[in-house]
Amino acid sequence: MPTIADRLKNVSISASAAMTQRARELAAQGVNVISLSAGEPDFASPTHAVEAAHAAALAGDTKYPTMDGTPALKAAISRKFKRENNLDYDASQIVVCGGGKQVIFNAMLATCNPGDEVVIPAPSWISYADIVKFAGALPVQVACPQEAGFKLRAEDLEAAITPRTKWLFLNFPNNPTGAACSRAEMKAIADVMLRHPHVWIMTDDIYEHLIYDDFEFCTIAEVEPRLYDRVLTVNGASKAYAMTGWRLGFCGGPKDLISAIANVNGQNGGGTATVVQAAAAAVLDGPQDLLFERAAIYKQRRDFVLSELAKIDGLKCHKPEGAFYIFPNISGLIGKTSKGGRKIESDTDFVMALVNEHHVATVQGAAYGMSPFFRISYATSMEKLTEACARISQFCAELR
Ligand code: PLP
Repeated sequence: MPTIADRLKNVSISASAAMTQRARELAAQGVNVISLSAGEPDFASPTHAVEAAHAAALAGDTKYPTMDGTPALKAAISRKFKRENNLDYDASQIVVCGGGKQVIFNAMLATCNPGDEVVIPAPSWISYADIVKFAGALPVQVACPQEAGFKLRAEDLEAAITPRTKWLFLNFPNNPTGAACSRAEMKAIADVMLRHPHVWIMTDDIYEHLIYDDFEFCTIAEVEPRLYDRVLTVNGASKAYAMTGWRLGFCGGPKDLISAIANVNGQNGGGTATVVQAAAAAVLDGPQDLLFERAAIYKQRRDFVLSELAKIDGLKCHKPEGAFYIFPNISGLIGKTSKGGRKIESDTDFVMALVNEHHVATVQGAAYGMSPFFRISYATSMEKLTEACARISQFCAELR
């Protein structure tokens, strides 16, 4: 019997995808499920993105793409990095891929050897560890505890770095906690990294524009220019511009690394769809007001959900600075039993009982590398959030 490759042995289907699937199954049975499990904006993609893609297709821009990105999009990305991050990346320092996920995947395939270690602050986006394992390297998680605002502490980072460390991953604003770093906090991380010149830094800035209460986003290459040659700055259209389905991500970094990533990209997909690249150039160069308008709406939702969760005994929430997630601590509820008879021994028990008994889909903290917590995505309407909070409240009140 032919067999599946060993490299897939430790790579699982993501828990958020599994929960989204469970929510779909319940919905197919006619159950009114509220899904707070997907990290996906509920807004429409900008009209000018759709128009630019349409125009590109009509103009015959439908041939094989270059493997690193169209000159027009790379120029728009270069302007974005300068305008928003004060970073200088010319066209030879930029690659366009099919989503931020593919950028990171390609970067790890381009650089990791067996036995290399990748330091990942936890909790973290589910895919990081799987991508690292796929590339044959070893994910090394460093806890960012709730007491520290879910931020990476310099001393914990220092302790995690070894001679085998190849990369440090950064993702602030963070999935799943929403935590973001101030300049001073980022500088403390940068100071550690200055002492370890054998390590590259991948900063995943995909939630850059989802930041609230006048908190200022910063990215490590800007905060510490001496690290510029070792930083891969990753971003994309999915979260900021509500373009998840278009699959468009990009990065800026040192030339040698960028050409290695472009080389992998050429074999892994062969470049990003030309019409999608036209749409991305249009949004990066177009009016940016929608970013602020949407951030204001997300902030309103965040504040509402936080205030509702604060009323629930047994939940302890940290106020996130950004992204569209809240990561409540449920340690006060462990050991109880749900009305439907499920013993809550873990956050997985909690989210399964919640979805099965009160039909609200969320994701267990274990999936992100920190328990006992669960992740709520508030990228959905106030109406649904209101109903979801009422159901979570009732579910918790029924625990005995
Ligand atoms: N990075 C983080 C931290 C994410 O949460 C996600 C999606 O959930 C991605 C990257 C994926 O982005 P893209 O849609 O650009 O592949």
